[in-house]
This record gives sequence, structure tokens and C-alpha cells, in this order.
Amino acid sequence: MNRQWRLIRRPLGIAQLTDFDLAETPIPVLQNGEALVRVEMLSMDPTNRLWLYEQPTYIPSQGLGEVVRGLGLGTVVDSKNDAIKKGTKVFGLLGWQDYKVLTPNDFWSPLVEIPGVPQSWHLGPIGMHGMTAYFGLLDIAKPQQGETILVSAAAGAVGSLVGQIGKIRGCRVVGIAGTPEKCDWIKNDLGFDDAINYREVTSLTDAIAKACPNGIDIYFDNVGGRILEAALERINLHARVVVCGMISCYNESSGDGYDLHPPRNLLRLLYQRARLEGFLVSDYFHRAEEAVMSMLNWYQEGKIQYKFDIVSGLENAPETMNKLFTGNHQGKLILQIANS
Ligand code: NDP
Repeated sequence: MNRQWRLIRRPLGIAQLTDFDLAETPIPVLQNGEALVRVEMLSMDPTNRLWLYEQPTYIPSQGLGEVVRGLGLGTVVDSKNDAIKKGTKVFGLLGWQDYKVLTPNDFWSPLVEIPGVPQSWHLGPIGMHGMTAYFGLLDIAKPQQGETILVSAAAGAVGSLVGQIGKIRGCRVVGIAGTPEKCDWIKNDLGFDDAINYREVTSLTDAIAKACPNGIDIYFDNVGGRILEAALERINLHARVVVCGMISCYNESSGDGYDLHPPRNLLRLLYQRARLEGFLVSDYFHRAEEAVMSMLNWYQEGKIQYKFDIVSGLENAPETMNKLFTGNHQGKLILQIANS
């Protein structure tokens, strides 16, 4: 049987179990041109929540009654397509289910297995998250030696890499994270220069001023909302604000994931002749090799560390996704649903 999580109601606020249904259907019989993939790992990503809104994002919205959309890894276990051989490891939009019927038109690619590198790394530093950190920081913000970088969700899948790449480029790096353990990890293990626990400080603006005495040249924003507003207060002349994500808004009850309390101080961009620029990692897929090779080299040189939080069981998918919004995970969150 194939277990499939389907969206039966669009969540308002944080997703509830009752917004989904865990259905069981027979494993489909393949048609010519199709391949059957055993889904092994699902990447739990903040964007999963955005895809549940009716409002389209950078791709069309997820339909009601459909299998919940999600990126993952798996192995081709049967094939009626000569171009997708049995045994091939694949990455793509496999969905929250045990088996995915893959057609050539689906979003997927074969995985190159790298000796000594665990498969999970394809859902982290040498996958989409590594590319997001790499191109978001190096291509959009273009850091110069000695500049100050502030990054939010700094102990997460993307943020932890942004900070480490910033250190490799000779910058002062300050991270914002939500627990003392996360702050300790980014400072003591990852080499960030300072860390701010945004849940504990009385004034975030003051805490940022203290940790960034020369102001902020680059703010890598994963969070939006009041943290973006506080960061804008301290930006330097010609600062670059990279809009990578705005997770603090993704569970808003607005019905679109937009911020109900947007930053009041965008005028700071004018005062400081600063640039605020959004980007999508998919625009960089054609340059994937550059990011992957850099990540692997830095890892081998001991300059990059990474943490995974692996939860087991497809049945736990909705609750696992919600951990991204409580911050109740350590590093890149993955749902393991079968052994590879
Ligand atoms: P993370 O591993 O960083 O997990 C999300 C973290 O966000 C949580 O652990 C939590 O950390 C923090 N967080 C959650 N809610 C809030 C809140 N209300 N205020 C402040 N912090 C909060 O996730 P990812 O690294 O996968 O994603 C990070 C960001 O990057 C997201 O915004 C995502 O949408 C974006 N993204 C963008 C891409 C692009 O192409 N532009 C591609 C991939 C991701 P804490 O405990 O510190 O609060």
C-alpha cells in the first residue's frame, strides 16, 4: 500500500492535523514512460507551509485533495522508462507519501552519490540549502573582507551555512537564534563572532547595536517581521539586505503568508542608500556544481560543519513541519520514511 498525506483544508495559522488526511491506496501500476520511486527522506522546509495557501507563491498553489507537496530523496524501484533506470537515486518533488510515480515532466533529478558523503547531505549543504546560503550571500550580497554580516534563523539549515561562509570570506558574523543552545553552537562550534537570542533580549535593536558596533553591511533575512525591522535600524551606508525568507509570517491568518505587521522603517533603505533584494535558489540551479564543489572543499578542509535533526515516520509529517515554526529542532530537519 501507498500511504499519502493529502491536504483536505487550507490551514489558518499553524497547520492542524485535521487539515490533512493520511490515506492508503494501492501502489499504482506503472504506465509506459513512468517510474516508481520509494521515497526515503523528506526535506521539511518552511516553504511547505507557504505552498498550502490558496494564493500562488513562486509556483502554483497546492490543490485541495492532492498529495502534500514536498522535496525528498528516494530510489527508483520499478521503471517503464529507459531513461529512469531501476536503482537510480533521485531528488525531487516526491510528496508526502511512501511511493511517487515519476514522469519525465515532474521536477526531479538523478543524485550523484559522493563517496564518504552521507545521502542526507543532498538535503543540506550540497543540496538546495547549501545553494541558498552560497548564492544568497555571495551573489546577492557580495560580502567584502571586514564587513559585518547579521543573519537570522542562524542555527538553521540555511542560516548556519550563511554564517560559516561569511567567516570564510573574512567577515564579522553575528547570528540571531531562539535558544541559548543554538546561540552556543553557532558561536562556539561554528565560529560566529557573536550570537543574539531574540527570545531573551529586552530590546533587539540594542542587542544588535551591541553585537554589531560598526553597524550592519549585510543582513541575511530568513525571518522578516520585527527582526527585519530591528536590523534595518542598524544598517550602514550601501548595506545589502538579502530577502531569503520571512518565516515569522508563514503562519499568518491573512490567508497568503504575508506579514500582518510589516516593518515600519523601510525608509531606512533610502537614508542609507541600501539595497533590499529577494532571490530564489531555483534561479541558480544551472550553477549548482559551483556551490556543491565549494561546500565539499570547505567540508574537507574542516571549514564547514552541519547538523541534522532526523525524525522517523511518514505519519509524523504535519507535526514535524510545525517544528520549523516553534524552532524545536536542531539543524536541518528531515523526515526519514524508509531506509535507503
Ligand atoms: P531553518 O532550519 O532555519 O528552520 C526555521 C527556523 O526559523 C526555526 O528553527 C526557528 O529558529 C526560526 N523561526 C521560526 N519562526 C520564527 C519566528 N517567528 N521568528 C524568528 N525566528 C523564527 O529553516 P531553513 O533554513 O530551511 O529556512 C530558513 C529560511 O530560508 C526560511 O525563511 C525559508 O523560507 C528560506 N528559504 C529560502 C529559499 C530561497 O530560495 N529564497 C530556499 C530555502 C529556504 P529559532 O529557534 O532560532 O527561532
